[in-house]
Amino acid sequence: MNTDRPPETLQTLRIPASGTLLPAVLALSELQLQEWLRSVGQQAWRAKQIRQWLLSRRISAFTQMTDLPLPLRSLLEENFRFTSLEPVGHQIATDRTEKMLLRLHDEELVECVLMREPDRRTVCISTQVGCAMGCVFCASGLLGVKRNLTPEEIVEQVLMLHRLMPDDEQITNVVVMGIGEPLANYSALMAALDLLCSSDCLGLGARRITVSTVGLPEKIREFARSGRQFNLAISLHAPNDELRTEIVPVNRNIGISQIVAAADDFHEVTGRRVSWEYVLLAGINDQDQHARQLASLLRGRIAHVNLIPMNGVSELGMAAPDEPRTQRFVNILQQEKVAVTVRKRKGADIDAACGQLRLNRSRQNN
Ligand code: SAH
Repeated sequence: MNTDRPPETLQTLRIPASGTLLPAVLALSELQLQEWLRSVGQQAWRAKQIRQWLLSRRISAFTQMTDLPLPLRSLLEENFRFTSLEPVGHQIATDRTEKMLLRLHDEELVECVLMREPDRRTVCISTQVGCAMGCVFCASGLLGVKRNLTPEEIVEQVLMLHRLMPDDEQITNVVVMGIGEPLANYSALMAALDLLCSSDCLGLGARRITVSTVGLPEKIREFARSGRQFNLAISLHAPNDELRTEIVPVNRNIGISQIVAAADDFHEVTGRRVSWEYVLLAGINDQDQHARQLASLLRGRIAHVNLIPMNGVSELGMAAPDEPRTQRFVNILQQEKVAVTVRKRKGADIDAACGQLRLNRSRQNN
């Protein structure tokens, strides 16, 4: 099954006759919503009820908020958009991975993905429109960064997928591994993740959420001290600065030793194990010497390496190594007592890698 259409279950973006766009309800805090309710002669306590409908129930329109008085439902309809995201593409892979392409109020596009495994449902979300990091194998950075996403634009990606799932299926995990550099949009991301963990929303445990970063040392330290229990994954991709700067250009101004020091700090402050992501690129960073260097960098640390075979992005001219080479890389790390797993490919038939759908759409338009 491979569809490319907006799901019918979701109300599409309504543009009123004046041409001005209504605000999304979740762009208002609970307090702001209370103020609005008072201003239109409604009871302020309804704010909590409205937000609970939006944050945790699988509905797609104000009219479905059945315990609200009908006039209030109409007022909401006239004054707000139900969601800040309009689905413009929806694909379902043979392994039931689902990917959505979402249009924002300013016509920009982002993506989110739902991955199904027997015991978990993981949603992967974006934090920026595009990305400024410029990693050479990644489709997200090819067009640069346009802007940060707002907290509600981040939360609503999860809600969008939640609403599409059958009632007996729950989201169990969130990975912030979609388009953008999450720690470059730190405050909006924290607001969004805190909301996802709140009991009014999905009530997710913080330990079920993973933030993946290119490695911004100051932000990693701030994250560690924020008192939250989220997991940290760092995208390393090379075991020495010369090679890392070729693959991850922002490394020129950072350097691996600063990142490792910040990761050590994160572990010391939170007690949590850091994951290290390493995209395997055939002939570039997948040789025995790279595995040995990586092992000596991480040996003795509470760390876990996640090897990610490169997911094809046609114009980039790079590919994943073959199976024996990947296995050899794994064996070297294991011999050196470094914990390692190879990430399973999900949604292989639907361009599910970071930024691919958005890139394909912008190609079609040009
Ligand atoms: N900017 C953050 C989060 C977004 S990228 C970061 O750098 O971690 C999330 C993960 O997807 C990163 O580890 C990234 O390296 C990986 N990724 C991006 N493009 C990929 C591709 N074509 N194949 C395999 N992994 C990819």
